[in-house]
Amino acid sequence: MKTVYNFSAGPAVLPKEVLQEAANEMLDYKGSQMSVMEMSHRSKVYEGILNEAKADLKELLSIPDNYKILFLQGGASTQFAMIPMNLMKNHEADYIVTGQWAKKAAQEGQLYGKANVIASSEDKTFSYIPDLDNLAFSKNADYVYICENNTIYGTKYSTLPDTKGIPLISDISSCFLSEPMDVTKYGMLFGGAQKNIGPAGVTIAIIREDLLGDEVFEGTPTMLRYDTHVKADSLYNTPPAYGIYICGLVFKWIKSQGGLEGMKKMNEEKAGILYDFLDSSHMFKGTARKQDRSLMNVCFITGDEKLDKKFVEEAKEEGFENLKGHRSVGGMRASIYNAMPKEGVEALIKFMKKFEEENL
Ligand SMILES: *Cc1c(COP(=O)(O)O)cnc(C)c1O
Repeated sequence: MKTVYNFSAGPAVLPKEVLQEAANEMLDYKGSQMSVMEMSHRSKVYEGILNEAKADLKELLSIPDNYKILFLQGGASTQFAMIPMNLMKNHEADYIVTGQWAKKAAQEGQLYGKANVIASSEDKTFSYIPDLDNLAFSKNADYVYICENNTIYGTKYSTLPDTKGIPLISDISSCFLSEPMDVTKYGMLFGGAQKNIGPAGVTIAIIREDLLGDEVFEGTPTMLRYDTHVKADSLYNTPPAYGIYICGLVFKWIKSQGGLEGMKKMNEEKAGILYDFLDSSHMFKGTARKQDRSLMNVCFITGDEKLDKKFVEEAKEEGFENLKGHRSVGGMRASIYNAMPKEGVEALIKFMKKFEEENL
């Protein structure tokens, strides 16, 4: 059987060890003779799973006590609405638009107030992060919104904007736990789990306590209020119970790999060898501005759409799955999240070299 490497942007590759452990425990979780999927979310056993996942996440990111960790549903996209519903108290917020996800968030914000686009990189197909030194924040902005790693375009903020005390909200769906970050720099962080943390269905939000008032947009459904989930400790209703369990196993796996420092080191190595190859290739070319390159999503083209298509097809035959770029930009994208082993990236580079020799 050929080795398959999955470069999907999400749902994406998970650590083999985690999947094996979940398989071992599938029918009998630690002597309970039940699968985690079958358990009451209010049982002692499940409470342990949830609390441990939360504690491990808190430890990995060094989340201070004045931040609440919420396990929610609805994907990152539901947060695009929950954020303004709950946090846009003055009905105004600033958005930096660096891709489709930030753009969608700004459009959703517009439903609840003034969502000002204070910077954008749409003029060059979102291939760069705009200048952050001369941003004009709005006087009444309740928050400044960014998407920190742009999954579709392969760009990432290498520094954060200095928001002059306005709470910074960041979508970290596709760089969650890929390297250490300073949580205290943010008012809120959030992301869907399916890129780097676990299965689709779990959304994680980390919110600074003082932002959580009971003043919300009129008519906000109970389920879409952060304070509902804070008060109930993510057990207001049935949470995505099995998904949270898998996230918990992934947190333990990351801890066993040297935590976020370990992840960063591996991710820099993996992305480094791939970008080095792209920079030396006579056929393939990276599409993101160099200083804004993502460690997680590596986007590239040959410059010839037919050749791109041929490459994606032949790569698939060799076991390199999901290398096609997002439907809105074309080209290729290799998503090399935490769980992608370095051998996978090395094998891809070897295949790209061979393809280049045969087709140049
Ligand atoms: C995938 C993705 C989303 C959308 O996530 P859903 O969970 O499908 O709603 C939002 N933001 C970023 C950065 C993403 O990569």
